[in-house]
Amino acid sequence: MKTYQHFIDGQYVDPIGGQWFDTIDPYQGKPWARIPKGCAKDVDLAVAAASRALREGPWANMTATQRGKLMLRLSELVEQNIERLAELEVRDNGKLIAEMRGQVKYHCEWWRYFGGLADKIEGRVMPIDKPDVFAFSRQEPIGVVGALTAWNSPLLFIAWKCAPAIAAGCTVVIKPSEFTSASTLEYAALVKEAGFPDGVFNVVTGFGQDAGSALVDHPDVAKITFTGSDTTGAKIYAQAARTMKRVTLELGGKSPNIIFDDCDFDQAAAGVISGIFAATGQTCIAGSRLLVQNSIKDKFVHRVAEIGATALKGNPMLAETNIGPVTTPAQYQKILDYIEIAKREGARCILGGGPATEAGLTGGQFVQPTIFVDVTPQMRIAREEVFGPVLSVIGFEDEAEAVRIANDTIYGLAAGVWTSDMGRAMRLSASLKAGTVWINTYRAVSYMMPFGGMKHSGIGRESGIASIEQYLETKSTWISYAKGAPANPFIMR
Ligand code: NAD
Repeated sequence: MKTYQHFIDGQYVDPIGGQWFDTIDPYQGKPWARIPKGCAKDVDLAVAAASRALREGPWANMTATQRGKLMLRLSELVEQNIERLAELEVRDNGKLIAEMRGQVKYHCEWWRYFGGLADKIEGRVMPIDKPDVFAFSRQEPIGVVGALTAWNSPLLFIAWKCAPAIAAGCTVVIKPSEFTSASTLEYAALVKEAGFPDGVFNVVTGFGQDAGSALVDHPDVAKITFTGSDTTGAKIYAQAARTMKRVTLELGGKSPNIIFDDCDFDQAAAGVISGIFAATGQTCIAGSRLLVQNSIKDKFVHRVAEIGATALKGNPMLAETNIGPVTTPAQYQKILDYIEIAKREGARCILGGGPATEAGLTGGQFVQPTIFVDVTPQMRIAREEVFGPVLSVIGFEDEAEAVRIANDTIYGLAAGVWTSDMGRAMRLSASLKAGTVWINTYRAVSYMMPFGGMKHSGIGRESGIASIEQYLETKSTWISYAKGAPANPFIMR
């Protein structure tokens, strides 16, 4: 088994506490590598390195153009390592190789986009309303950024968080999920090879309550950017307030996929499948509530169930597999628990409804793609995030009722709308309380497009030009060139 080390100040180093834990291949159900169990002391070292790099040395003195060039170099190196990195991701999180290959490749675009943006961060000259004053604002890096990532797409989240942070001139300490740390640790070697100065990019692994919490508490970390559950997000938000940290929180969802009777039937059915069964439902943007107009409900749900029934479960490394294992034993149990809760609450299961036990499914963490009908908006299965391949179907009569049900949730990450009526599409894009509304598509993201949640789904946006502002502080400078007698010092100027 490979034994990994933290990456601090440009070097791979052993954890101070001398402890490691196993990381498990969810398909084989077996440990395959040892990950350092970080503690507050490791975090101290990493934050000290990141603070030093921010204040002194090559990074602090580099021009924005030079920073951008390093980022472009990193994107090239990642591109040369797509297959290796994608396989690492699959081995750790069990998602499909085709999806992870695509994600690692696409991830390079964040480095290119934000690398190009690095030297376009501009301040302003104000036409200030005072005589004999030159007034301008400048944008400065916010400081050391602590990044905490979830287990479903570790490398994609690195790009979403670190590309804008590094373009802004910040330095970062990343604490990846304890379930999927290997890819982030391997990635650090590419950052070094690209020529980033020591201390700009640091990785400390370990558990949330130890290494994660220490990062959130650290007084020299200016900002926390987090992707994970809303429960942890709320805890981090409160904890970060003690040291007045800025936060970006990308949290969970219970996103509605809304089907009107004038939709393109086959496109909509495929969109629903991609929303709930892709990635074994382990995506924050899962379209886990299927709202269907009553006039086509039975026919539409039948079609979705038909496609769901043919989805091929198996080895995520094989190109033909549609559904891989659930990533962690706890998540597997949580999904099965929700299936039982739904049955007890009176929802009717028309597809799946339990563990998948077919021969050849090794590792033991497979769940049947599952569809519940007769779901009411009050049931827990319609309100709480399952993070698995479990779809809740709710009928509606008209547009007004669809919007009411869709917005009746604490979450607001995403929503899908399937209709050929563009007037209706525009109305819903305005009235749905979600950070992303997809019309006649689903589960599309881009480095150009702001992404994030309303309500309990988060704070702030990642991707898109404006996201860089979350890693910048604005400083206002006033320069007086007034001559003559001083102004009255007892009155505000
Ligand atoms: P999680 O909240 O359990 O963990 C996320 C990260 O936080 C991990 O690195 C973990 O070690 C760390 N952590 C846990 N407790 C901590 C603490 N007290 N202090 C500091 N750090 C702590 O989430 P998860 O199970 O890894 O991921 C699944 C969740 O992530 C789902 O709710 C999903 O919807 C959400 N998610 C959101 C997005 C998004 O972009 N909005 C994307 C993917 C996943």
